[in-house]
Amino acid sequence: MRATSPMLLIETPDTRAAEREYVLGVVLGEFLGLRWRRISSERGDVRVTLDGMEGELRLPDVLLSRPESDWLKPASMPRQPLARWRLSKDQFEAKTVSDDLPIIYGDSAPSLRKEANSLRLPIDIFGSAFFMLSRYEEMVTPDRDEQDRFPAWASLAHKEGFLDRPIVDEYIEVLWSAMSCLWPELARRQRHFRVQVSHDVDHTSRYAFCGLRKMIRRVGGDVLLRQNYSALLNGPWTWLTTRDTLKASDPYNTFDWIMDRSEENDLKSAFYFMTGVTNPQREGDGDIDHPSTRDLIRRIHARGHEIGLHPSFETYLDPDQLRREADKLRSVLDEEGVPSERLGGRMHYLRWRTPDTMRAWAQAGMVYDSTLGYADQAGFRCGTCHEYPGFDIENGVACEIKIRPLIVMECSVFSPKYMSHSEAEGVVAIEKIRRLCEKFDGQFTLLWHNSEFTSKRSREQYVRLLK
Ligand SMILES: [Zn+2]
Repeated sequence: MRATSPMLLIETPDTRAAEREYVLGVVLGEFLGLRWRRISSERGDVRVTLDGMEGELRLPDVLLSRPESDWLKPASMPRQPLARWRLSKDQFEAKTVSDDLPIIYGDSAPSLRKEANSLRLPIDIFGSAFFMLSRYEEMVTPDRDEQDRFPAWASLAHKEGFLDRPIVDEYIEVLWSAMSCLWPELARRQRHFRVQVSHDVDHTSRYAFCGLRKMIRRVGGDVLLRQNYSALLNGPWTWLTTRDTLKASDPYNTFDWIMDRSEENDLKSAFYFMTGVTNPQREGDGDIDHPSTRDLIRRIHARGHEIGLHPSFETYLDPDQLRREADKLRSVLDEEGVPSERLGGRMHYLRWRTPDTMRAWAQAGMVYDSTLGYADQAGFRCGTCHEYPGFDIENGVACEIKIRPLIVMECSVFSPKYMSHSEAEGVVAIEKIRRLCEKFDGQFTLLWHNSEFTSKRSREQYVRLLK
């Protein structure tokens, strides 16, 4: 941003000052890289001007001027079905996924109003962006799945058919288009598409660290269900002899293969390790202190990839335990000579409660979290494919953590429990989402577990998605 760039003046009603400062900061400051200042004003809408220049942009003000009694209550939720604005009808051009734009908050009969030097958009862009980024609806809608997660099917985005669109990024393009029409000299921050691959390490080994019975069951499954007869020898041998390093023949020891593929594509992989146990039935059987895990951590670091935290099953509502697990990872990394100041990660099972889990990450001194995608559907839970600062909606204050939305987890797409795509369909669906992240110069955040590369087909699919 140039120090001399002109200042946007944003006149808004004085309600929800902290929420307004936050969302203006994300949309105008972080995403567009513009200078801005908010001015409280007794008006019923939002007015944007550029200091010292002619012209004004106005937008409806809906969510952030709701009465206190409606805040975080069903009465403040968007009215369904949402109105839709057909941009071409008003000869308005902006980079959007389609010409038909759902309006979360805004006018019920949307159209663009144009007068000399004055534009009025029909969308409450700041309120709608706040709704998506803060995960407002997760505080209001009580639906949860069997893992106590807010499910995709309960979300407005799913119900209104826009979970596969980065709607906040689209709104920002609409805003940008209107502002550049009024003030062609404005320059925005340039951002660049990138693929961000990450791997939750639920298990480092398929056979080595489970009990004897579980090992026998796994070998049995490999032989009977997958016709993998080599498991008959490989299983017991791995179980008996894994000491200082993981066996090359271990089906879950895919770490070098993953790093090879990342390096070929000029990417850095992030590996999130578990360091605590809160529900052994729901967790893998790795051990962060086992010599083979320590060896793995050193290898990942030596090759320049990232190590982060995968907090255990019950930590999403237990900030003290999450902090202990973060501290444990820090001490392991310190012992292994790996820098531990800037750690991120992702919750096991994507368990998350807004805003408690976010606060717990921040209190544990973590830099970013990459949990926020839905387990049951791929897409844009937060409405964006860009990283952004968190906001504690319960206390109305900024939260010292970056949210890195998770766009696709492999099992959301392929598992019969979730989207249940065939192998061919699934890759096409993921590629479509990836292209949208590219279109909006965002991050395509892909989670692929190290334990999900057991077939040749899954490896081929993964390689295709990195290109
Ligand atoms: Zn996990």
